[in-house]
Amino acid sequence: MSRTNLKDKIKQGLLILDGAMGTQLIASGIGVGKCNDYLNIESPDIISNIHRAYLRAGSNAILTNTFGANKFALARHGLAEKVEEINSAGAQIARQAAGEQKYILGDIGPTGDFLKPLGNLEPQDLKDAFVRQAKSLLAGGADGFIIETMTALDEAEIAIEAVKSVCNNLPVFISFAFDGVGSDFRTMMGVNVESAASKALSLGVDAAGFNCGSATLDEYVKLAEKFVSAVKASGQDALIFAEPNAGKPELIDGKAVYKVSPEDFASAAEKIYSLGVNIIGGCCGTTPEHIEAMVKKLKSNILK
Ligand SMILES: [Zn+2]
Repeated sequence: MSRTNLKDKIKQGLLILDGAMGTQLIASGIGVGKCNDYLNIESPDIISNIHRAYLRAGSNAILTNTFGANKFALARHGLAEKVEEINSAGAQIARQAAGEQKYILGDIGPTGDFLKPLGNLEPQDLKDAFVRQAKSLLAGGADGFIIETMTALDEAEIAIEAVKSVCNNLPVFISFAFDGVGSDFRTMMGVNVESAASKALSLGVDAAGFNCGSATLDEYVKLAEKFVSAVKASGQDALIFAEPNAGKPELIDGKAVYKVSPEDFASAAEKIYSLGVNIIGGCCGTTPEHIEAMVKKLKSNILK
């Protein structure tokens, strides 16, 4: 029996995503500064093993290892010509690991540049780049798309439009990276929760939320509360998703170390779920153990 359409599935209960890829790669000895996305070609087994560990931990859906696989980010590694190859390989590796029962989301991150006049990007080039990436993820077998770690509203808008133009009616999720600023939250580009939520919802995404950024677990719970009220206030029908980091990292010997235990992460996830968030995973510093602890805690609510 094959899986139900993800768009229908996410309306039925709690969907568990995976945890971090980047920090898991560092933990498995991949040097910082390497092109993680190119590992889909160079060392597919490393990526596949991380996917499989998350699936064993209980993730319903995993994200393809393609966060930086847009033409602009790949160009920094001299790999701009490899967009199609890297994305379709990323989707195929995830599809193989997930089999026919579990879901894979095509992961799309920011370019690392900005639209003119702030940066060098032209809107049409940016859109074309996201279209290229999304098409290859689709060809490789994605069940949906997740546009992550956005900080600028204009780049997020173009990414959503690009993905929706080729997504074949598959679900599209978007999330922004917020930092805790006093008792409030802003992205690096100064976007607040209300603006991010209303922009995402006005563009017709299936789920909107937050990932990464810099906050403690308590702050992520507050952020979830804020995001839920922003979505409710908009009166729109969209689901909310959250991928917190394993708390705020401590810098030890120049390395970011995440010290939040799987149990504490699971408790925060339980609070986030009870606020009305029903797609939950983890970002930087989370491991299969964090996902497993969360799955144990929220077991009765998770989609079968
Ligand atoms: Zn992260």
